[in-house]
Amino acid sequence: MAVVNVTRNPEKSLKNGYLATSLVGLGTTLKTFTKQLFRLEESNTVQWPEVEYKYSDRFKGAHFLTKRPDGKVRCTACFLCATNCPAQCITIVAGESPDKGVEKYPVRFEIDILRCVFCGYCEEACPVDAIRMGHEYSMAGLAEDKWVYTKDYLLNREAITQTLGEKQVSEKDENVKHDSVESGLPGIHRK
Ligand code: SF4
Ligand code: SF4
Repeated sequence: MAVVNVTRNPEKSLKNGYLATSLVGLGTTLKTFTKQLFRLEESNTVQWPEVEYKYSDRFKGAHFLTKRPDGKVRCTACFLCATNCPAQCITIVAGESPDKGVEKYPVRFEIDILRCVFCGYCEEACPVDAIRMGHEYSMAGLAEDKWVYTKDYLLNREAITQTLGEKQVSEKDENVKHDSVESGLPGIHRK
């Protein structure tokens, strides 16, 4: 078996070790501090919460549920999101839908957001574009706050309804869902 000896790169390591390295680090801090104090360099620090950071459009933040054009919940309680969730933080209770042509709807739909790892698998698994992850990232709160997102919260919270407006309506209708299932294509087809 080949043995690899790992040694320090003499050109990169400082001869005086820890103390000199610390002083170099302090020098870098002092240099940056001075530059930013006299506004010779722009600071990368975001002045949260006065200034909001703009993440990319692909950022996956807090979830929301989409609606049908008539304003009802789009979810058909198929359990695919809950089954795919690695954190097992989605709870769904299905009920018979009063709408003709829709088999089920979620009587209860909850996400325990403290257990969620924001992997996006629920969004990917949904065949009818019923659950999406929005751009909200400010979710800090006190211990007594509710950390279980209920169906009403996922459907109707102000930050979503105001920013998305009509875009909260699912982009897929029933027929598109059946077409994609029959053709074997993955469930989500965003416009
Ligand atoms: S983002 Fe991942 S962990 Fe969070 S609810 Fe969806 S599937 Fe579960
Ligand atoms: S995968 Fe979509 S339709 Fe199925 S239960 Fe989850 S949110 Fe509802």
